Amino acid sequence: MSPWQDLDRAHLWHPYTHHGSSPAPIPIVRAEGAYLYDAGGRAILDAISSWWVTLHGHAHPVIAEAIAEQARTLEQVIFAGFTHEPAARLAAELVSILPEGLEHVFLSDNGSTAVEVALKMALQFWSNQGQTRPLIATLENAYHGDTFGAMSVSARGIFTEPFGQHLWEVARLPDPTTGETLPALERLLDERGGELAALIVEPLLMGAGGMRMWGEDVLRALRERTREQGILLIADEVLTGFGRVGSLFACERAGVQPDIICLSKGITGGFLPLGATVASAEIWEAFWSGDRRRTLFHGHSYTANPLACAAARASLRLLDDESGHRRIAIEAAHHDGLRGIRSHPRVRNARVLGTVAALDLVAEPGYLSPIGQELGSFALEHGVLLRPLGNVLYLLPPYCTTPAEVAGVYEIIQHFLEDR
Ligand SMILES: *Cc1c(COP(=O)(O)O)cnc(C)c1O
Repeated sequence: MSPWQDLDRAHLWHPYTHHGSSPAPIPIVRAEGAYLYDAGGRAILDAISSWWVTLHGHAHPVIAEAIAEQARTLEQVIFAGFTHEPAARLAAELVSILPEGLEHVFLSDNGSTAVEVALKMALQFWSNQGQTRPLIATLENAYHGDTFGAMSVSARGIFTEPFGQHLWEVARLPDPTTGETLPALERLLDERGGELAALIVEPLLMGAGGMRMWGEDVLRALRERTREQGILLIADEVLTGFGRVGSLFACERAGVQPDIICLSKGITGGFLPLGATVASAEIWEAFWSGDRRRTLFHGHSYTANPLACAAARASLRLLDDESGHRRIAIEAAHHDGLRGIRSHPRVRNARVLGTVAALDLVAEPGYLSPIGQELGSFALEHGVLLRPLGNVLYLLPPYCTTPAEVAGVYEIIQHFLEDR
């Protein structure tokens, strides 16, 4: 037990943690590649990329060096009325790899703020043109973050329950895994189409709502219908961006061009907090006029922090061909690993999208299902970090993870299934 662990217990409030019933947090002193090292020197394979952020691997020397160099040069400057090279170059580099038409980059701090900015851009896009379109459409089981706007467009459930009366009304379309989304969109367009500002989706993979994978054809149809009706499409790629789903972006995989894209999590390779909201020229132009009231009155103290921008640029350089091969190898290892357990009587709906694999365990469903914690503890005893979403188990490893390491995780899962 490290002496500072008492200080943690006395003074820290951890995220998504019920302090009355959770075991003490594990002290981590170092990380490298796919592994975390605890205070006793034990290695833990990080099979969830530390909450989906670690992209290439922990403590990657190229990103570490880029941050150190930037810190010695320019650590921070107000971003209204001032600018700097790391932000300008990062913006250009993002635009060059994003789906066509996304051209103007607004930087913020995290995934939730990237979503808030997108929602404000979309609503003000219409009000700047003198139109009243107050309604945002969203999908059942969506997760877009924990701030109030992001919660409003997310699924209602235990995460949002205490705040229900403070969340705004949205139009909710069925989860695309049900096949009922498109007919419901048609009904919504008939009834309230004129009120709709935007539709927000997590393209192809709905993460925190249960690692639900959905079809490229549905995404393309949603894009087509929203474009025909002049409704903005916001793609929340906070999770799916930067290679997680195989291609660099889920929208790219489906050949879809959204009007606004939200990025965060892996954007800095998992080193520093940064969010980006990238908009089309059409949206940008609605804020471009002699009337200063049409300004996007939004900003954060650390908007475009130079260290975060430098980390992001270094991370983008690491998304090279070799990274692509590694992602393909992880995807193949998922298919191999799932082959051994997908027909187990306690396993349903095993699925893979790029570097992400998921399955449903036959148990009490939902986020509070105890089986998730049981499996998490079991995996940890065997040196692997897994954090199931209730009865939904998923693997989301950093790209440096080898196929043999992925196979090892599936062996542990198999042992868990056999033990019960
Ligand atoms: C994690 C996540 C967010 C919120 O990002 P934070 O950085 O945790 O605020 C938003 N959207 C999606 C799809 C996410 O997975």
